[in-house]
Amino acid sequence: MIKALKFQLKTWTLWELFQGMALTLKYFFKPKITVLYPEEKTPMSPRFRGKHALRRYDNGEERCIACKLCEAVCPANAITIESEARDDGSRRTTVYDIDLFKCIYCGFCEEACPVDAIVETRTFEYTFEPGDIHVMSKDMLLAFGDKMETQIAADRAADAKYR
Ligand code: SF4
Ligand code: SF4
Repeated sequence: MIKALKFQLKTWTLWELFQGMALTLKYFFKPKITVLYPEEKTPMSPRFRGKHALRRYDNGEERCIACKLCEAVCPANAITIESEARDDGSRRTTVYDIDLFKCIYCGFCEEACPVDAIVETRTFEYTFEPGDIHVMSKDMLLAFGDKMETQIAADRAADAKYR
């Protein structure tokens, strides 16, 4: 009976409406936490795991030594590597593909890499349409690494301070 009365009272006094408006008023004058994306962006960690890239050393030599640790550790089977020995005896990949449809951006590949060759960059604003190529080949990964190297090196240096 009392419960029913309370319900009727709340209904006729618009109690819940005023509760909602009080909450709106409370936050109306507080600093806004929303940003106007894409013009404004939120801070991003140097460890952000976005689109992949393959890095080179300063002399232009590719870092990857075809050890296949990244391929072995990948839980999504997204990485495909083939390799062969070069004339100088060193081993390098002939195929290095990452299927970005399969990838779950876990970061295991870059954690496993002994030479810091495969990395995940801050780039997350990219899409694939049906029919697009969603496999990043070695050439694409190296080209993207060349393009992003300044940012990648800065992120690595920033991250190293916390390790
Ligand atoms: S981020 Fe994870 S799922 Fe994606 S390629 Fe690397 S190991 Fe595989
Ligand atoms: S990217 Fe790193 S872990 Fe993967 S094959 Fe090359 S050297 Fe090995």
